Amino acid sequence: MKELHEGIVVRVHGGHHYVQDGERIVDCSLRGLMKKERVAGDLVVIGDRVRWEPTGEETGVITLVLPRRLVLSRKPPAARSPQEQVLVANPDLALLVFAFQKPVLSTFMLDRYLVACEAVALPVVLVINKLDLATGAEDYAASSLYQRIGYQVCYTNALTGEGLEPLRERLRGKLSILTGPSGVGKSSLLNALWPQLALRTGEISEYHAEGVHTTVVSRLLQPELGTYVADTPGLRTYELWDIDPEQLDAFFPEMRPYLGQCHFKPCTHTHEPRCAVKAAVERGEIAPVRYESYRKMFG
Ligand code: GDP
Ligand code: ZN
Repeated sequence: MKELHEGIVVRVHGGHHYVQDGERIVDCSLRGLMKKERVAGDLVVIGDRVRWEPTGEETGVITLVLPRRLVLSRKPPAARSPQEQVLVANPDLALLVFAFQKPVLSTFMLDRYLVACEAVALPVVLVINKLDLATGAEDYAASSLYQRIGYQVCYTNALTGEGLEPLRERLRGKLSILTGPSGVGKSSLLNALWPQLALRTGEISEYHAEGVHTTVVSRLLQPELGTYVADTPGLRTYELWDIDPEQLDAFFPEMRPYLGQCHFKPCTHTHEPRCAVKAAVERGEIAPVRYESYRKMFG
């Protein structure tokens, strides 16, 4: 009987699919038939769990992609094809990294990431880095708002290692997507969590710069066996998900209790009178900045 091998795709590059199976990494091609069956460009992506058969010492062929639990995708740059491009399969967690200062936290950008994660029901950990640059209580105003909404927030200092332990625990054994604006300390944070990664400062962001025009090279970093972090250039560059404006309100968790209570049904919570969401904003139950984000995203 043939041995059954199963692994996870950690890197895809020019027809090579590197499959992590236990402690080894096998360079796999795709079985011919699979290419016909699956849509081009979306055959096998990082995070995919696959069955494979050995063809040599360190080479193999992927015979089956196991069903994807969840995918993160984006529309390719205009005109190429209207089809979605899957970036990562089966993520467990999104790590959204921002900083207290340099750059200062943009709630609108954060809200966009959050909506994108809510839309695919991907759990979020919000990391506010550069804790050493926080000067007073007002610096925590933005992030504590997200805590009140129910998001997990970690405060870190990548230079001293402060606050890293809970984060490391949270990431252990999971496949996490790492994202956030340039310069917030993503590379520093990964290095501080796992020095053996030895990333160059700015390395993660550099990838992002290259990713704009070149083919997307994606990889999963594996700082510990079974713990993966997706370093995906396209993630920060493109509009990730097309969100139907009609559904947008449901992706703001603090609005959910009021949905269905507006006078008009459906209600866009923009111009309609007797809107339960707007009333909640006026009563201070929904933060005005969050409502502003909703309005901007609604278009
Ligand atoms: P990335 O672009 O998100 O990968 O950010 P980098 O890791 O390259 O860091 C950008 C700059 O912020 C570098 O100069 C880091 O040394 C600095 N930096 C990273 N973490 C911290 C921190 O916790 N506090 C301070 N003060 N600076 C930090
Ligand atoms: Zn309304």
